Amino acid sequence: MATSIHADSFPASCWIRRSGCGSCLLLVARGRPILSRVKRGILGGTFDPPHIAHLIAGETAYRQLALDVVSFIPAGAPWQKFDSGVSSAEHRWEMTRLSVEPIPYFVADDSEIRRDGPTFTIDTVESFAGDELVLILGADAALGIRSWHRWRDLLEKVDLAVAPRPGVGRHEVEHAVPKTIEWLDMAPIDVSATDVRERARKGLSIRFYVRERVWQYVQEQHVYG
Ligand code: ATP
Repeated sequence: MATSIHADSFPASCWIRRSGCGSCLLLVARGRPILSRVKRGILGGTFDPPHIAHLIAGETAYRQLALDVVSFIPAGAPWQKFDSGVSSAEHRWEMTRLSVEPIPYFVADDSEIRRDGPTFTIDTVESFAGDELVLILGADAALGIRSWHRWRDLLEKVDLAVAPRPGVGRHEVEHAVPKTIEWLDMAPIDVSATDVRERARKGLSIRFYVRERVWQYVQEQHVYG
């Protein structure tokens, strides 16, 4: 079991500096370096657009599981949504980037967008070898996890944090997922990216469904027509 050392857990007088190389934290305590694995939440999605439920799930996981960082990773070519007219990777990346700024423990990660071919979460997880990983999912996504590419390997490499979602029962999810689940302590939020896109296409306001700068970006760039 990896130990994650938080700067907050040291009295100010105890640690001198904290630096990172992306996959490790270096804390120097009383002159002695302590190397600690990063405890990383991975929140992947199509993010077309990223909305408040994604952010609240990330925030809840960060607090509840004492994560060091939450990586928001827009899918490059989401293989389960190939036919559904997904917005360009450029728009989804930009909206993801704008969503997480300037929250210091949220990071937008473009690795799946830069990778050729279909996006598989297991590849992303393996790219973070060395980190302690928590996969953050909505209950609907958790329900289908056994259809994911190399799902057994995936479940071996991550802990699971699941956000409740209206219409999806906890027992149903626990029955479908052969692994212990940490339920995120947040209200079920009845917002989906599909709803947000439909509102935007109808000319209805999506303000507060998404971060302010995303709302502005969607209007300026006519992302949804
Ligand atoms: P779409 O409506 O286009 O299918 P979505 O709103 O489900 O999109 P995604 O980007 O596909 O958003 O989802 C990324 C992750 O966030 C998934 O694990 C999904 O289950 C989760 N998620 C999305 N919306 C919610 C929500 N309202 N509550 C909890 N989890 C959510």
